[in-house]
Amino acid sequence: MKILRFALASAILCSLVPLAVLAQVNPASFSGKKQKRIVIRNATVVDGSGKPAAGPYDIVVESGLIAQIVPIDPVASKAGEGRRPAQGDLEIDASGKYVLPGLINVHAHTQDERGGNSQAVEYNMKMWLACGITTVRDVLSTKKTLAWREQSAANAIASPRIFAYGVFTASPNPTTPDEARARVRELKAAGYDGIKLFGVDRDIMQAMEDEAHKLGMRIAHHVGVEETNAWDDIKFGTTSIEHWYGIPDAAIESGRQNFPAGYNYANEVDRFRYAGHLWREANWDRLMKVLDGMVDANVAWNPTLDIYEASRDLQRAQTNPAFADYLHPVLEEYFRPNPANHGSYFIGWTSTDEAFWKENYRIWMRALLEFERRGGTIGVGDDAGFIYQMYGFGLIREMELQQEAGFQPLMIVKHATVNNAKIMGQENSLGRVRVGYKADLIVVNGNPLENLKVLYPTGIEEIRDGKVVKTGGIEWTIKEGIPFHVPTISAEIRDMVRKERQAKP
Ligand SMILES: [Zn+2]
Repeated sequence: MKILRFALASAILCSLVPLAVLAQVNPASFSGKKQKRIVIRNATVVDGSGKPAAGPYDIVVESGLIAQIVPIDPVASKAGEGRRPAQGDLEIDASGKYVLPGLINVHAHTQDERGGNSQAVEYNMKMWLACGITTVRDVLSTKKTLAWREQSAANAIASPRIFAYGVFTASPNPTTPDEARARVRELKAAGYDGIKLFGVDRDIMQAMEDEAHKLGMRIAHHVGVEETNAWDDIKFGTTSIEHWYGIPDAAIESGRQNFPAGYNYANEVDRFRYAGHLWREANWDRLMKVLDGMVDANVAWNPTLDIYEASRDLQRAQTNPAFADYLHPVLEEYFRPNPANHGSYFIGWTSTDEAFWKENYRIWMRALLEFERRGGTIGVGDDAGFIYQMYGFGLIREMELQQEAGFQPLMIVKHATVNNAKIMGQENSLGRVRVGYKADLIVVNGNPLENLKVLYPTGIEEIRDGKVVKTGGIEWTIKEGIPFHVPTISAEIRDMVRKERQAKP
């Protein structure tokens, strides 16, 4: 009863706020320019911790930090709280809108080329900002990524904040434990924030992880089908398992998947085809022991469901309507089936392959749900730039797939904010709408708890008064007090794509 009265009163209050006073003259003129003080008014807040939405609040951003969150609901107002904050350099009216922490992409690849053809990094960065991403963990970082990280921090480029994880197996590939330790020290000295690991034997992995722990470096492990599996991650202290291989592998009774005799791991059609048979071979009871082991050892799981989706429904992946305006022609070319491009393996893909993959997803999704129920940390990353996933759009698709797995949107937002911050060791400054945290915020035109699709730059359609109305999309992506006006950024991306297509020979 109390709740009902509250809801009614707050609805009345919202409708009384004079919109004209709060209206922006020209939001585009603020885009990308750091503001000393921003006030977001009348926001309904999803804070990222898993707590339910609440509001309205006025949020004050000062010098890049969340300075104040003022409740202006009727109960707070009656109690003498809720005094409206003084005007900001930028005023954002969030009436009827939701404010969330900026999304974090914990499996990102910053790309300025695809398949040897150059693609402006500006496209990649703006796609992320348009999809509400304020921080990325780049897990294939190079010296270029380190430079972008610095440029982003100085606001010299429009970009999310970057954490750069360097690749352990870059050439020369360490072949002894001593070389493994030296390589870790080299990555640390070069300024990388963490390490991306894949494709090594057990002794190398052990030495590498030991050295990384000594230097305080975190480890993202793309496990692959190797000598090692998730038990090694548990034993050696991997921070996060990327994708999923290695987890069902650790639960197969015979110790190895039952591959056909002619199977060749280096052939991507083989590799991805039989990956679709992997989850069914895991013994469920053993799998639960693996998951418990990961929970006890604090190994997080970043599943990247989105990046395998084409394997279960190729046509869906190839005909994404958002491609019409947002797919860069260089990326489009890279997506075409071609044995020379990683992930472009769809040659002779069959309905049988898709049926196996659909079953694969069903088991995988159940395992993910179980992992969280047992106390595990699940992250959100998109791995975009491969297999029909566009930067940022892939992250929102990942969130949709986590909903399909059975997670409720409040928890999915938590995965993409609080959990991702935790995976990077940034949980005390990133990933929450909370006073003292970095002002990474998104203002969403709609309720993502009802429909995650409102997050896409393409927006959604609704029927209002019998008419189809175009709505949704993120209005503002704010990174540490720098407001990016998403309709402006999205128009810039569409323009870039259009021009690139025209220039294409
Ligand atoms: Zn990746």
